[in-house]
Amino acid sequence: MPTRPKLYQIEGIVLGRRDYGEADQIIICLTEQGRMDFLAKGVRKPRSRKAGHLELFARTNIVASRVQGSWDILSQADAVVLRPALQDDFDRATYARYVAELVLRFFEREANPNLYELLDWTLSTLVEDKAPQLLVRWYEQRLLELAGFRPTWHACVGEREREQCEAPLAPRPSDTQGYGLDPERGGALCPECMRASLAQPGVRLLSPSALSWLQALQRREYEELQPLSMPEKTARELTHAMDHYIAHHLEYRPTSLRMIDKGK
Ligand SMILES: [Zn+2]
Repeated sequence: MPTRPKLYQIEGIVLGRRDYGEADQIIICLTEQGRMDFLAKGVRKPRSRKAGHLELFARTNIVASRVQGSWDILSQADAVVLRPALQDDFDRATYARYVAELVLRFFEREANPNLYELLDWTLSTLVEDKAPQLLVRWYEQRLLELAGFRPTWHACVGEREREQCEAPLAPRPSDTQGYGLDPERGGALCPECMRASLAQPGVRLLSPSALSWLQALQRREYEELQPLSMPEKTARELTHAMDHYIAHHLEYRPTSLRMIDKGK
């Protein structure tokens, strides 16, 4: 006699949905146990009761049953938090997709309660925040740290004559020379190391303003940064700098922010 499938309950945040078969979908979630993919049968039928509880970026209580060698089957979903603004507002939706994309690209299926908490908080804040771009820059620093790629912004990562430089970095607006961004070595370069590394692939100039923002984004809580306004020029520079840094470590360039870049 076949044994009854074992039901379990888990809370997850919906990061992706992909059509499967005629009326089903694969629902990709982050849970405290790591990424989990579920098969939601009949969820594309007009009268599906589950569909509304599995909207993108919703935090949802899921009941599912284990299936050996296939996706677990989702039998019930009950949304705890729905985030419709992350679907209706173009900019917020684009940032939310980027936030989700980084989770899926940087993390495998390992359990990580801190990542779950970071994702949930970031998506909830993104719903109403006045400066979604600043929030996303702050999130990148936290995510890189959790993924084991914490950049070094406070000391030079350069190497001259086979010696580690490690000069403390304290950028000021009056600085006349630029700093450097070196994804391979995992951080920033002092002006001297920058000059010595100009020919190295992947190394880029970093303005004093951009570096001092990166330091603040890494060390400060988001609430402390929120009242500050980032100059437009620095915001643009940081978008490109972080895109470059992240693409280097992922060996892949995240696609979700391209739409926003094109629009500005
Ligand atoms: Zn240096």
